Amino acid sequence: NPSKDCPPDVEELGRSTWTLLHSVAATYPDKPTQKQQENLSQFMNSFSNLYPCFHCAEDFREYMKKDKIKVTNRDEFGKWLCNAHNSVNVKLGKPKFDCNLWKERWKDGSKDGRCD
Ligand code: FAD
Repeated sequence: NPSKDCPPDVEELGRSTWTLLHSVAATYPDKPTQKQQENLSQFMNSFSNLYPCFHCAEDFREYMKKDKIKVTNRDEFGKWLCNAHNSVNVKLGKPKFDCNLWKERWKDGSKDGRCD
């Protein structure tokens, strides 16, 4: 468990990255313009080539070949991303996340008010 100001290991990098990606989904429009859809596709494509855990990135590119990215609206992208994250969870032996709860986790916060 290295000190906070050390370079990230694969786990810390992963947690930070999922936070960014799910937050992008949470703020993506319900009705994105053509340009916004292009931007998201290009961002995720670049991401899958640049992610600085190279074996992770390679597997993620393979995943994206089989399950084509959905950028048509917030919920479609959010669910696609949740499924993509679940495929990594399964690979690592972690439990699957219930994708019906992705917005509660990353956008609106828990219904019990503890995130308010
Ligand atoms: P994380 O998986 O980082 O998740 C963070 C939080 O997101 C969880 O606490 C939970 O609240 C929430 N969450 C969990 N699942 C979902 C979901 N499906 N949808 C929405 N929210 C969810 N690590 C490797 O060792 N090998 C790899 O090949 C690998 N590939 C990766 C590929 C990508 C694209 C990314 C971004 C990361 C990858 N990682 C990989 C890192 C790995 O996914 C985890 O981030 C890391 O193991 C830390 O896990 P964690 O248990 O802290 O939770």
